[in-house]
Amino acid sequence: MTDNTFEYAPAPESRAIVDIKPSYGLFINGEFVDGNGRAFKTINPATEEVLAEVAEADDADVDAAVRAARRAYTRVWSRMSGAERAKYLYRIARIIQERGRELAVLESIDNGKPIKESRDVDVPIVAAHFFYYAGWADKLQYSGYGSTPLGVAGQVIPWNFPLLMLAWKIAPALACGNTVVLKPAETTPLTALLFAEICQQADLPPGVVNIVTGAGETGRAIVSHPDVDKVAFTGSTEVGKAIARAVAGSDKKVTLELGGKAANIVFDDAPLDQAVEGIVNGIFFNQGHVCCAGSRLLVQESVAEEVMSRLKRRMATLRVGDPLDKNTDVGAINSAEQLSKIRELSEVGESEGAERWSAPCDLPSNGYWFAPTVFTGVSQAHRIAREEIFGPVLSVLTFRTPSEAVEKANNTPFGLSAGVWTDKGSRILSMANRLRAGVVWANTFNKFDPTSPFGGYKESGYGREGGRHGLEGYLKNTEKGANS
Ligand code: NAP
Ligand code: MG
Repeated sequence: MTDNTFEYAPAPESRAIVDIKPSYGLFINGEFVDGNGRAFKTINPATEEVLAEVAEADDADVDAAVRAARRAYTRVWSRMSGAERAKYLYRIARIIQERGRELAVLESIDNGKPIKESRDVDVPIVAAHFFYYAGWADKLQYSGYGSTPLGVAGQVIPWNFPLLMLAWKIAPALACGNTVVLKPAETTPLTALLFAEICQQADLPPGVVNIVTGAGETGRAIVSHPDVDKVAFTGSTEVGKAIARAVAGSDKKVTLELGGKAANIVFDDAPLDQAVEGIVNGIFFNQGHVCCAGSRLLVQESVAEEVMSRLKRRMATLRVGDPLDKNTDVGAINSAEQLSKIRELSEVGESEGAERWSAPCDLPSNGYWFAPTVFTGVSQAHRIAREEIFGPVLSVLTFRTPSEAVEKANNTPFGLSAGVWTDKGSRILSMANRLRAGVVWANTFNKFDPTSPFGGYKESGYGREGGRHGLEGYLKNTEKGANS
């Protein structure tokens, strides 16, 4: 025990509220079906306990899901008025709120994220997303993008925000009158399957939402299916590029939300304690498994030493451990594979000459864990400054002038997000104009709101999710000048 920490009694959230079944089928045409019979296991990354066996969809299963989605689109969903569709979306949103604790506990068990995040961030924003897009369903004529749906949307999502990414995909698609076939990530399928039950509970017409579980091959089968009109993907830039190639030359409309390597820029006039909280939130929220994580700290040279000493003191107080404990700040790394990627890139950082410091904390013996870590003395050419680590690892660079900060911040193949910490409003505005990033936060970080569009520049992808702009990817754009 160091001077600035003290013992806490464990405060675990009960998992009695969730009912995890030994095995799950595919959700096609409103019911759970066996599919081809192949299955894979999903585990709790904090304990390595096997949670359930989940069906692995092959091409024929994906085809059955797409056909169900097409039938539901043609016969029911595209014929229904926007006001009627909204009723279903509102109902789903309310059930998500009612079953919020169950969803949060299940998300933390399957993903490894702290319960205080799944409970206070993920699930409330998921419900908010359904409420928000329910409101658009009968007002599409005012969207600026027309009001004609595309048809069947094939959607593939990653494991870092399983339920939230599902909401970002399904809510706007349904509001616009499309039907969907969605694949959750292999390591985090359980909340998507619980969402399937919620669709049943909401009496959503069969086939409007289909959930097919599986790994990369299942995803490939969805995006390349000839009867899918729209592909929406969130994940790595590498797979995003493969998908862009796979759909090139087809009529499919595509949106890609890919990786990031955000600069979090701290000027010397920033309130430093708040900035330190923002740095911690920027990189240690959700174990750093965040596409828009503030993984490159750019700190003005004159305050660099002070910021680093306050940051390390704060990092030493982060509680790493049981995701279900309400005190936990940093949970488990999502998979053994991701842990080995984080370890590998951190070793590269050391061999490239950066200085590594990890928060002193006892890590549990089972499961996948990585102590909050910061690298100082990082240069722009280092791999840890260029590549996405997607874990609780921060690279620190310094700058002297605002122009140097902009130049360093933009020196990346990505362009998803950035943060600016300063007391001057005029500087916030001028920085926001010069930073090539889809989202720029000022004196805050990692804030998400369904009314606000989110998306990237450059290798971070194209298209926007959230807000009015998020409708564009799900409508036949029949209006002139609709891109404004
Ligand atoms: P990933 O490996 O690209 O996987 C994403 C999803 O695609 C998973 O469901 C995956 O299946 C599936 N998949 C894999 N290969 C495929 C293929 N050839 N065709 C179709 N689907 C395929 O990414 P990840 O490692 O899970 O997620 C982390 C990445 O997501 C990071 O780079 C992060 O920045 C990015 N991300 C971006 C945003 C954003 O909004 N921009 C948000 C969150 C995450 P399995 O994994 O099940 O095998
Ligand atoms: Mg899991």
